[in-house]
Order: sequence, then C-alpha cells, then structure tokens
Amino acid sequence: MSLLSVISRSRVRAFQARRMPFARLLSTLPNTHIFRALQNHDPDSLAVIHSVSERSFTYGSLIGDVVRARDDLERKAAKAQGSLAGERVAFLAENSYDYVVTMLAIFASDAIALPLSPAFPTGELKYILDNSQAKMLLATEKYADKAMEVLREGLEHEPIFNVRNKLQGTSGDSVVLKDLEQPSMGGMMLYTSGTTNRPKGVLIPQSALAAQASSLLEAWKYSPSDRLLHLLPLHHIHGVVNAIVAPIIAGSSIEFMYPFNPEQVWKRLGAPFLPTPSKSPITFLTAVPTVYNRLMTTFPSLDPTLQKASKEGISPSNLRLNISGSAALPTPTKTKWTSLSKGNILLERFGMTEVGMAISCGLDNADRVDGSVGWPLPGVEARLVDTETGKVIPETSSAEGEIQLRGDTIFSEYWGNEDATREAFVDGWFCTGDVASRRVVEGAGSGRSGEWARGGMYFIQGRKSVDIIKTGAEKVSALEVERELLSLPQVVEAAVVGLPSEQWGQKVAAVVVLSDDAAVSGKSGRSWGPMDMRRALKNCLASYKIPQEMKVLDAIPRNAMGKVNKKALIKEVFDV
Ligand code: AMP
Repeated sequence: MSLLSVISRSRVRAFQARRMPFARLLSTLPNTHIFRALQNHDPDSLAVIHSVSERSFTYGSLIGDVVRARDDLERKAAKAQGSLAGERVAFLAENSYDYVVTMLAIFASDAIALPLSPAFPTGELKYILDNSQAKMLLATEKYADKAMEVLREGLEHEPIFNVRNKLQGTSGDSVVLKDLEQPSMGGMMLYTSGTTNRPKGVLIPQSALAAQASSLLEAWKYSPSDRLLHLLPLHHIHGVVNAIVAPIIAGSSIEFMYPFNPEQVWKRLGAPFLPTPSKSPITFLTAVPTVYNRLMTTFPSLDPTLQKASKEGISPSNLRLNISGSAALPTPTKTKWTSLSKGNILLERFGMTEVGMAISCGLDNADRVDGSVGWPLPGVEARLVDTETGKVIPETSSAEGEIQLRGDTIFSEYWGNEDATREAFVDGWFCTGDVASRRVVEGAGSGRSGEWARGGMYFIQGRKSVDIIKTGAEKVSALEVERELLSLPQVVEAAVVGLPSEQWGQKVAAVVVLSDDAAVSGKSGRSWGPMDMRRALKNCLASYKIPQEMKVLDAIPRNAMGKVNKKALIKEVFDV
C-alpha cells in the first residue's frame, strides 16, 4: 500500500480555506529519506540564499519548484521514449538555487544526478558524458553555450538537451509523498579526480546518500538554525553532500558564495558585527585547508573595523562549527585559526568520493586532536590492514595500515567498470588506498561528542600510492614530513614526494613555497636553501625522513579542492 503524507500542512490549510479543486493537491514526490525530511521543514524558513544578490528562497518554494522541474524533466524524457529511473542526468549549473532544484528534481525522477564542473574543458566533459552514457544534459542559461560546445564534440550517446530557465522561487502546490513502484534506482554520480587513470564514475545510490547525511547529522548536529556559508565547487562530494544534502535534510539555510574570494568572505562573515550590522551570522563553515590559509593571509589587509567584526563573526559564540577536510590540515593553519577566532578549533575529518565522510573528530573541543581525523563516523565501520601481509591490525596496536571501510554509506560501483569495482573491495570492505595509524589519545574520546567518538583515533599518513615513501628499509609518511616543513617559519607550502633512487629505491624530496622573507635573501645575502632545511628539520625528524632534495616554486599547483597531484608534480618539477 502506498504511503501518502502531506507536505506543507500550512499550505494545505490555505488550500482548504480557498476551496480549490482537490486535484491540485495531488502533485507527488517519492517517499524517500530526503523528501520525507523536506516535508517536515517550516515552509517559510530559508533554504537557499544567494549571498551577493541577497535573493532568498524558502523551503516552501523549493518543494514547488522541484515538483515543476521534475514534471518538466519527465515530460521531456517521455517524448524521447521512457522513464528516467536509473538514468544519468548530467547538469551544468552555477552554485545557486537552480543547482539545488535541479539536483532534487533528478532525485524526484529516481534518476542519477551527475553534476558537471563548468570549469572543466569540453574534452573532459565529453569524456564524462560518454562514459556515463548520460540520457539527459541540462544546463542553466549561463552554461548553455558551454553545453552546446560539448554537444558539438559529437557524443557517443546523444543526450536529450535542455536549457533550464532561471527559477523565480514561486511557491508551490501541496504535495503528497508516494512510495516508488520499484526499489530506488536513483542517486548521485560523481567523477573521481583521476590522478592515476581516467576519472571513474562513482555511483552513490539514494540509500548511501541518505546514510551519509544521517551520519553527519548525528555527528555534527546540523539544525534549522544553522546558516552554512557555501564556498566549494559542486561536482565534488564535500560541496554536494556535506554542504547541500545534509543541511537540506536538517532544514538549515545554505548561503552560496562562489567562486571563493577571501576579501568577500571576510566582508560577509563580519557584516552582522559591523557598527551598522547587516545579514545573519554564519554558524557553519566547511572548507578545505587552502581556503582557511587564504583567508588568514588576506586578513591583515582588511581595514581595522572589518577585522574586528569578522573576528567576532568567526568566534565560537557565532560560528558554531568550522570544519576542514579533503586534504591534510597543517597544524600551523589550525593554530592560527584558533588564535584569530578567539578559540574556535577547526574540526578535521576524512572522506572520499566513494564513501562520503568516513572518519571525523568530534564536536567537543577535546575531541579535535592535532593531526588526527578522529573516529569512524556513526554507521561507518573501519579497520586497518597491513599493506604487506594483508592482515587486519588489532585495535590495540599502533601499527600503520590501509584504511578499509564498510557500511551503508559506501558507494555501489564504478560505473561500467566491473574490474575496478571488484579490485576496490576485499571481503566486502572498501580499500581506500589511504594509510593511517591509530591510537588512544589521553583526554579525548570520552564520549562527550557521542558514543561513536570513543577508542583509538586515526592519524592519516597519506595515500599508499604516492605518500608512503619507501627509502632503504624505512617507510616515510609524506604527510608527516609536510607537517614538519610547514611548522618552519620559512615554508608557506610544502609537498613531499618520493623520487626513484638506485641507492635507496626511493628518496625523499620536497617541493616548497618560501615565505617572502626566506625567498628574498636574508642577512646572509642568500635565500633559504636545502642545507638550511636539513638543519632546521634535524631535531624533529629522523635523518632518513629529511628530504634529500628541495625545489622552490612560486606556487604549488592544486585542484579546486586544494589537492596536489603528486604524480604530475614529480614529472613537472623533477622530470622523472
Ligand atoms: P576525493 O575523493 O577527491 O574527496 O579524495 C579523497 C582523498 O582525499 C582521500 O582518499 C585522502 O587521500 C584525501 N583526504 C581527504 N580528507 C583528508 C584529510 N583530512 N587528511 C588527509 N587526506 C585527506
């Protein structure tokens, strides 16, 4: 029997008062986790805000627009024969209300939402559309030309193409929830960054998306009173799940501000605390380490009134939660942020496209331990496995091993790539390719952040393929060396890599960006060099961990999520 429940009770009452025909009530949405959650939100509360234009959209209008957009998609699909269930619907949209409506409309058709990065070159987009065999390509007006360019490349599977008009946020009819007629075939498809091979399409079913969001809601306590400042790209798990799906399920407000511009972000964070206040305080910030770094480098250039106001904006009493992830958080970044914000400690977490968020520090400040990504999140099972013997490392051991994960949050397959899917799992555990050690930390994990945050904490050592460097008989974690390099006042950025070496198998090498003082020769009349680096690291690292080579760059190339492609970097800088 199908379960019907009514969305937006206030609107139903309005409808009854106006005695409109009953048929208008019968728009339906699938009875799935995300739409059940939407049903319960106050229709008048804000779902999405465009930070610069200050246009805002309520949960009531979101539901109405999703129904209309879904109907439109299904009409287009029906014309070209058939249903959208389980089909990939790719879309190019700016970070905006239109993106959120489009994604939810695709979910409502039980299709697979495939967000494309507008920053990708057409060749890359063509690859993704061909590889995913997308049935439909949607573009907002802004990206219609880009989509046309891709179509002109000649796709293997010509998708139905549709340009979506800008949405005005008109309020909707009342909606009922209806069970799907078959088990859900919908979800999300995100492409890996493809550092080793061509990018793979990661299929995250609706059930996994729901499990990922539930896990985050329990750990980070998103709430309707949260206002999240959204600074991230939207073709990546961090920006989509942590910063759209989870807050929408919680009924929080999402304020889009993209592309990232540090001065604008400071203005926004400080706005409610200026002598003439405007805007609501931001309570929730989730970003990558480079974003926090750039904010802090820009801070001294702000005028003193804005400095004071934005410091207030990021203080613990206003900014409830500040999270860092997607790349290792250097200790100096964490420390500087805490001092600038008068006590707000960045909460670090570990995740990846295939698993959503997997391991996280806790809300309690004592559970945000330096260098650790915390404990397996609610619903996630984790184990460490010796990379040489394949044996599971006991909880009591501090040995390092590959992180393997299991649970409802894990993706189902690499699209059209059975071999890669099979190779990624061992006995039902997903092999992350990331190496970590685990140990109990005194004073942390007492359960104050939740029962899940107990026991040994995880410390990431890096990717098995590039960050675990084998030099002689020793293993070196690139991340550990990077942490030490970044603690030196002369080093602003660092990437540590392993280079082939006849003598050692691999030797440790560093690529660094120097501070202005260190780059422009100091008193000695020369700039900081490899000898200075080795001397500086002597007391904090064993000698085999100290880089044998050092190259200085003006900037280390990073992708939109602040990650360094080390294989490309080695080729470019060391020509090997
Ligand atoms: P992606 O699938 O693009 O999100 O990349 C996932 C990878 O990012 C992981 O496999 C890790 O190598 C890395 N990563 C994510 N979070 C962290 C973190 N907190 N510390 C270190 N590496 C991280």
